[in-house]
Amino acid sequence: MLPSNLSNPMAKILITSGPTRQYLDPVRYISNASSGQMGRCLAQAALDAGHQVVVVSGPVLVDYPAAVQLVPVVSTEDMLQAATEQFADCDGLIGAAAPCDYRPVNVADHKLRKTGQPLMLELVETPDVVATLGAAKRPDQWTVGFALETEDARFRAIGKLQRKNCDLVVLNGVAAIDSAENSIEIIDPAGDTVCHSSGPKEEVARAIIRTIDIRF
Ligand code: C5P
Repeated sequence: MLPSNLSNPMAKILITSGPTRQYLDPVRYISNASSGQMGRCLAQAALDAGHQVVVVSGPVLVDYPAAVQLVPVVSTEDMLQAATEQFADCDGLIGAAAPCDYRPVNVADHKLRKTGQPLMLELVETPDVVATLGAAKRPDQWTVGFALETEDARFRAIGKLQRKNCDLVVLNGVAAIDSAENSIEIIDPAGDTVCHSSGPKEEVARAIIRTIDIRF
């Protein structure tokens, strides 16, 4: 297939994908329902457009294309560390992962037993991968974040773009989670919608990569 981005056919793109896990004890963890499908489709679309792709992924069942450099991680802290290392050598980041926003303060080294009493979990915030990389990016690097919103969607997505210093934000709804389809809007820093796409995640991913190719 011909690269769609003939002016810059070989960008190196970092994609974060999937959920992360924050363990409470050796067998239990908190996580979320992200499947990694959007990340897999973005990786394929980026490869098809002629780019080199690094995927930093939490634990998922999907198979990423064999041509990507895959860096498997477990926790949000692991994802931040791996993504920071990889980003230094990349042109841009697409933050398609759904990292856990909280981790337990205490992680038991043995399986927690039932006591008949309520169990109180104390959680603290984890670092934000997209925001950390966005704050430290070089002028030649770009970052694209995702926003999954249930209300005041555009307003919140633009707020996220600004807080995380993104160059574009992809807004989608809860229907995207663990689904083969998605419906998205891509918003730029001026608050303008630069792309709408809905359908199978493969098609939506191609629209996202096309938009990135045009802008960066
Ligand atoms: O703030 P919220 O989680 O809704 O923002 C979503 C965007 O931020 C996504 O691009 C997601 O990959 C990224 N994110 C992150 N690290 C976190 C939480 C979210 O990179 N700890």
